[in-house]
Order: sequence, then structure tokens, then C-alpha cells
Amino acid sequence: MIAQPKASHFVNGCWMEDTAGAPIDVLYPATGAVIARVHEATAAVIDAALASAKAAQTDWAARKPVERGRILRRAADLIRERGDALARLETLDTGKPLQETLVADWPSGADALEYFGGLVASVTGESIPLGGDFAYTLREALGVCVGIGAWNYPSQIACWKSAPALAMGNAMVFKPSEVTPLGALELAQIFMDAGLPAGLFNVVQGRGSVGAGLVKDPRVAKVSLTGSVPTGRKVYAAAAEGVRNVTMELGGKSPLIIFDDADLDSAVGAAMMANFYSAGQVCSNGTRVFVQKAILPAFLRALAVRAEKIILGDPLDMATQMGPLVTAAQVDKVMGYVDGAVAQGARLVTGGKRDGMFVQPTVFADVTDDMILAREEVFGPVMAVLAFSDEDEVVSRANDTDFGLAAGVFTADLTRAHRVIGALQAGTCWINTYNLTPVEMPFGGAKLSGVGRENGKAALDYYSQIKSVYVGMGPVDAPY
Ligand code: NDP
Repeated sequence: MIAQPKASHFVNGCWMEDTAGAPIDVLYPATGAVIARVHEATAAVIDAALASAKAAQTDWAARKPVERGRILRRAADLIRERGDALARLETLDTGKPLQETLVADWPSGADALEYFGGLVASVTGESIPLGGDFAYTLREALGVCVGIGAWNYPSQIACWKSAPALAMGNAMVFKPSEVTPLGALELAQIFMDAGLPAGLFNVVQGRGSVGAGLVKDPRVAKVSLTGSVPTGRKVYAAAAEGVRNVTMELGGKSPLIIFDDADLDSAVGAAMMANFYSAGQVCSNGTRVFVQKAILPAFLRALAVRAEKIILGDPLDMATQMGPLVTAAQVDKVMGYVDGAVAQGARLVTGGKRDGMFVQPTVFADVTDDMILAREEVFGPVMAVLAFSDEDEVVSRANDTDFGLAAGVFTADLTRAHRVIGALQAGTCWINTYNLTPVEMPFGGAKLSGVGRENGKAALDYYSQIKSVYVGMGPVDAPY
């Protein structure tokens, strides 16, 4: 299987190669086969990408919003037309099963392009009466934005960042994770095919150092990162040097709270979605599943039965429900958490084994708040189940973390659902469901999980700035 792109980078509307950059082999996680080789961006490539973005941005921002939106909506249509091939490429890049990539990854990217393309023409400023004088505000583009992506949803991340950025009149230079470099290049081609002027969406490959080079460049007005908290800290600090705008979508250790009046089947299904989709490599996963004591035995029984039926295997087989993890290093990391949980006294209910690049869907019960499994982000198919007695107790335990990305509550009691959500420290919450992230709903984290929001109308605020204009209608009354 070969998925070699035409070149490593996409700059100023063209594929670009510079083999002086260090090579990066792209592996298909399911087999370890090398499916492509790209080269890390050299200083010359980075400079060309930023220069073309800078040159193209002013004219783009001056266009009517409805024209910009039309191009984005055309890109959304092209993604849908090419959906099967794109999903296959995403599966090769990430190892995620086709069953997921056909419905979740690129489709959600297309939704973002359609949504922001449609929304942008309705963005307006305000008019502020000041007696005879008045003021008005304009929402202006920021300029050149840098997007840096993680490997778990590479194409969705590229779309979620570029759609609001381009809609508001910005240009973007995007650096995918070195582990999954292929999807963003396809997006660049799709934008060209949709009529986006050259230079507005550039893709440069590379490891963290390339991202770091982009973030500190004086031409850059904003940085949007999806990644881990340690990387977020570094990128945020580097952006602060130049007082740049940031959006940080970082990690989590989110609580999913299941009260004893919840619909058991739905709660079990949601807990599985919250831990096993994409083999658990989802930042918003509800990895601390708090279950009220009365239903805990029944919950664990039902969970084990369903978890053991999950079909692992060839990601390109439509019957496969769970693929491999993205890299061998990630498998080692996840298995380290599994072994650590056993050593700390958690009870293995099901799973716990690896087979090459695959990790079984794994459930631990009797997990306590101080165990490493309950405190650190695993990013693999490992669920921690914790028992609780009452509402006040579970809310305080759920909030006892430095993360604050997401949270969920299952209960039949409407009042309790809203009260508990009100008390949880998290940016993205669900009641009686989990992990649904439609583009219409803002997404992002509290506490260490991030700054800013993607998606929803809110995202437009993070890709624009307000210009205030005071209009004097009479003579200037100077005191001298
Ligand atoms: P990393 O934080 O390791 O990397 C994220 C991106 O930043 C990669 O493209 C990486 O490049 C790049 N990078 C690394 N160092 C620097 C630097 N100093 N300056 C600029 N860029 C840098 O995350 P992973 O790719 O390993 O993804 C997994 C993590 O992402 C998980 O912890 C998960 O929680 C989080 N995540 C958060 C999401 C959210 O929306 N909140 C969504 C998805 C994932 P390279 O990989 O090439 O080294």
C-alpha cells in the first residue's frame, strides 16, 4: 500500500519539495508498512509558506465575506464527493477503522467548512450611539495564523482550524503531526480545487521544532494548537513572546458520572463510546467513569459483555470496530498505564493485553482517585471505573484534577443533571450522552485543558479582532 503525496509540502498553491529536510517515514499503524516518506520543512520552506500567506491575506480579507464563504462551502462539497478515498487515506495515516473515518473524520471537517462558510456573511460589528457622536466596531481578520495538529484526528483538526480562520479573512500555515502528515496535504489540494487563492492555506511538515519555528516568526498573528498540555505550555509561552493570539486545545482526564437512576444500557454504551472510539485516542474521552454504588455490579457486568464483543482487526475491513494505536510508542505508553494500574491494586475487569500494535478494550474497576490511572491522560482504550455514593462527593472528586476539558452526567433526574453540570469544571459537557461534538457547538477546555474555543459562533471571535471607530460629528473642543 502506497499513499505517497506528490510532495512533502503545499506552499503558495503548489506542491513543494525540499529533500534537504530530514526524512519522515509514514507508517500504516496496522502493519508497520512504510506508505509514504515526507521531508521536514527546511527554513526555506517555512519562510516561503509564511511569505505566501502574508502576501495573500490582505486581498482575501478585503473580499466580501459571502465570496469567501462560497469557496469554503465548495471545499465542503468536494470533501463529501471524495469521501471514500479520503476516509481510506485517513485510515492509512492513523490506523483508525474505516467504519469511523467514513463517518467521523473528514465528514466533520466538511461540516466545519460548510458551517463557517455559511455563517461568516452574517458577522457584523455594532453601532454605539454617543449623543451626537457615535462609534462603530468592525470585526477584522488577525492576519497569518499558524495551526499545529495532533495525530488523533489529523484531517478534522486541519478543517476545524482552517475553516473559521479562512472564513474571517485570515491565511493559515498548518503543520500536521509528524506521525500523520497526509490528510492536511489533501485538504490543501481540495482548497485549490474549490478556488481558494494561492497562499491562503499552506502545509509544512515537520517535528516539534518546525512548529516552534513557525510560532516565533514575527509575521504570525495567531497560533492554534491541538496537542498535549506540556506542548501547550511551550507553544503558549513562545506565542506570549510576540503577544500573539492563541487557541489551545489540550488534553483531559474527563469525568463521566452515572447516577443509579440512569438508563443502564445507554450509560454503558456512552461509557464505551467515551473510552473505546478511535481506540481511546480522543482528548475529550470520559476516562474517569464514576458509577453510583447501587448499580455498579450490573454496570460492570453489562460493560464486560459488550467490551468483549468489540471487533479488533484490519482497519480497512468494514466489520472492524477498533484498530491499532497510532504508534508503537503509544502502545508502550498505554501498556505502562495498564501495568501500573494492576500494580496499584485496580481490578482488571476485561482486556489488559496487547497484540502487536493493538490493545484490547480494557476496563479497570476499584480505581481510586489517587491512582495514576485516575490522574493522567492515557490516550488508549483503557477505562477506569470509580464507585461513588452521593452527588456532593462525586462532584468534588470529579473536579479534583488540573484538567477541565469535558464532563458528562447520566441521570433521569432533570434538575440534578443541570445542577451537576453547573458545578463541574469543564469546557464541554454532555447530559445523557457523550462525546458528540457537532460543529454548531463550541468545543474547548477549562483549567489546563486549554484556552479559547473551536467550533460554534464562538470560534469566529478567536480568529478575528475588534476595531473600534469613534466618529466625531461636530467641531473638536480642545482645552488649549
Ligand atoms: P503533542 O502535544 O506531542 O504534539 C502536538 C503538535 O505539536 C504536534 O504537531 C507536534 O509535532 C507539535 N509540537 C511539539 N512540540 C512543539 C513545540 N515546541 N512547538 C510547536 N509545536 C510543537 O501531541 P500529540 O500529537 O502526541 O497528540 C496527543 C495529545 O494531544 C494528547 O495529549 C491529547 O490529549 C491532545 N489532544 C487534544 C485535543 C483537544 O482538542 N483538546 C484533541 C486531540 C489531541 P510532532 O508531533 O510532529 O512532534
